[in-house]
Amino acid sequence: MINCDLGMSKPFDIEIGRLTGPANYSEVRGVVTGQRGTFFLETFGCQMNDHDSEKVAGLLLSRGYQQVETPEAASMILYNTCSIREKAAQKVFSRLGEYREKQSAGKVIGVLGCVAQQEGEDIFRRAPWVSLVCGSASYSKLPEMLARLEAGNSRVTGLDTDTDETFETPVTRRDNPWRAYLTIIEGCDKACSYCVVPFTRGPERSRASDSILREVQQLAERGYSEVQLLGQTVNSYADPTTRKMRFSELLLAVADVQGIRRVRFTTSHPSDFTRDIVEAIEREPKVCDHVHLPVQSGSAKVLRAMQRTYSREEYLEKIAMIREAKRPIGITTDIIVGFPGETEADFEETLSLLVEVQYDSMFSFKYSPRPNTPSLSMSDSISEEEKGRRLAILQDKQREIQAAKHAGLLGEGFEVLVSGKSRRENQWTGYTTSHRMINFTSQERELLGTYVQVQVTGATPNGLVGEHAV
Ligand code: SF4
Repeated sequence: MINCDLGMSKPFDIEIGRLTGPANYSEVRGVVTGQRGTFFLETFGCQMNDHDSEKVAGLLLSRGYQQVETPEAASMILYNTCSIREKAAQKVFSRLGEYREKQSAGKVIGVLGCVAQQEGEDIFRRAPWVSLVCGSASYSKLPEMLARLEAGNSRVTGLDTDTDETFETPVTRRDNPWRAYLTIIEGCDKACSYCVVPFTRGPERSRASDSILREVQQLAERGYSEVQLLGQTVNSYADPTTRKMRFSELLLAVADVQGIRRVRFTTSHPSDFTRDIVEAIEREPKVCDHVHLPVQSGSAKVLRAMQRTYSREEYLEKIAMIREAKRPIGITTDIIVGFPGETEADFEETLSLLVEVQYDSMFSFKYSPRPNTPSLSMSDSISEEEKGRRLAILQDKQREIQAAKHAGLLGEGFEVLVSGKSRRENQWTGYTTSHRMINFTSQERELLGTYVQVQVTGATPNGLVGEHAV
């Protein structure tokens, strides 16, 4: 999704020493870490992008590169950024400007991700000190590209989007020691009129179920207890093997792996959200009771202009299906305000949808046109001021909803996976299975990565506070 989960999973204050990932890279056969040089990898964007960077890092480590924490210490500087955010390309070029001097010091500079795909070889024209431009659909070709760089090529590109391969690496460096991200489907076959993903990430390609399950097994053996299955439209998963596992079957199979305690998935597309997914959540407590189901607008007219493939009524039917589940399921969404042609009445329909659905949380954005998207040619006549006004009203409404929802949770107890430690004494943070963040107090000295019971003692519109229940 265009807005997929920005910032949804960022814990705070994890001690840097714990962010090493459990893999022992020097074990990669025949490779001595650092023998090929060092790399610095900077990432901006959504979870898919974060996970792509983890895989790129894994690939480089397996080829004998060593990851370092500053561009100064690196022989190769890579910048992986998505074009979701406004003026992304501009920001990339300004960052590349900062790296210019570093190239004259002999460093290799590379651009990865959606912006690389979008700007293509133009990057070499505008920033001639760049040597590598690789779009996200071409990451599977990175080993070959690195080999060409190592052989002395000064300009290497990977910009195909017609690849039918998914990006799998034997070693993935994971930046969270407890939760592992796993891309199960790449690209997108939908054609939402505002979205660059079909252009930058290419057509939909699903990963083989046996390969996914093998990796989950390895993750569990390394101590990961939570896995998050990722895809732009994760529930459109279509197993390419003869097993033809449905997405809901895959959820259950992942939950069945010994050592796995939580299975998350994001982002779901409403049109492909089917009853069997709800049944999998009902049946298996390890499949988390949270669905991120972006609606984008509450107006049927705007949904048509966005080419979202469902109507307001159809979306609400999916919500009703989720709400009828035997086990309560948290629902979150993404909304865009100020799409071309959105009238005040259309906007009111989005507000009424918000009230009807009662989302647990929402990511909301002002529309901004992106290169290579169909909506670029639509007249973007709503002023920035008006978009800002609508966004503020929408967010106020959601804040009200969340305040009431959170107040209703006072006194309840939840199991949380502790993912962060505050600088303040005895303060911790963790997530419930329904992806609610709780800041809580505990006298324990070491809780990171453990599952604890927390009782909710306070609520604000933005979150819950609680106490470790021992
Ligand atoms: S085109 Fe695909 S990735 Fe983009 S918003 Fe639509 S469904 Fe999501």
